[in-house]
Amino acid sequence: MDVNQIRLTIFFGVFILMLALEWFFRRHPLVDSKPRRLGINLGLTGVDIIVARLVFGTAAVGVAQFTQERGWGALNYWDLPSGVELLITVVFLDFMIYIQHVVTHMIPFFWRFHIVHHSDLDLDVSSGLRFHPVEILGSLLYKVGLILALGPTPFAVLVFEIILNGMAMFSHSNVALPLWLDRALRYVIVTPDMHRIHHSVEVNETNSNYGFNLSIWDRMLGTYIHDPKKPQPEIVIGVDAFRKPEEVGFVNLLIIPFRKIPRPF
Ligand SMILES: [Zn+2]
Ligand SMILES: [Zn+2]
Repeated sequence: MDVNQIRLTIFFGVFILMLALEWFFRRHPLVDSKPRRLGINLGLTGVDIIVARLVFGTAAVGVAQFTQERGWGALNYWDLPSGVELLITVVFLDFMIYIQHVVTHMIPFFWRFHIVHHSDLDLDVSSGLRFHPVEILGSLLYKVGLILALGPTPFAVLVFEIILNGMAMFSHSNVALPLWLDRALRYVIVTPDMHRIHHSVEVNETNSNYGFNLSIWDRMLGTYIHDPKKPQPEIVIGVDAFRKPEEVGFVNLLIIPFRKIPRPF
């Protein structure tokens, strides 16, 4: 199997696993039609993949290869064991995308695009893939910059991408984990209950729990909320600006950022 096959296999494996788990162990009641939302979110993912490929051609892993061949980036100045390099890469990139996420909430221009992710009226495995293509391009550009500065191995970037993808599907899923397990996992990683708070319409909850993989950044930097105002199954998911399913159809999602958007907060 080549790199892309491994990646796709893990991607589909996690996607189907979470889809099945949230079907049997549902945490939050549904407001919108699941097949309709799956179609919209996967359609958006298709557009994202096409746009990203057209503009960049090479993925983040390719940039890591390019950087390493030239000996660029901080990690190429030290001779660290590969395990340590891998750990530094995963933790550093995770912290930097936490920062990126905070910025997308604070700067109105970025929020215009990020609101598409938050406009989902239910959360499930497919919400983890729901991003406007412009936000995806911005994230790619940002990641390329980070990789050029850090100089990680292509393998480390691949591991990070697989973890990030898998965790995005896990943390957005509508799975009811046993409470004790959620609490235990939450000391280290982002769980579905933790990320659902980030998708609440309550402004202070939307502006909390920004983490993707590790939950420690939110805890360390004071953006962590442990319990939402309402009990988990009663959290109102989405943003105030869009409350009706027809407002967040496929075409609308693409043009929302170019319309008048309410100020973030
Ligand atoms: Zn967000
Ligand atoms: Zn999210």
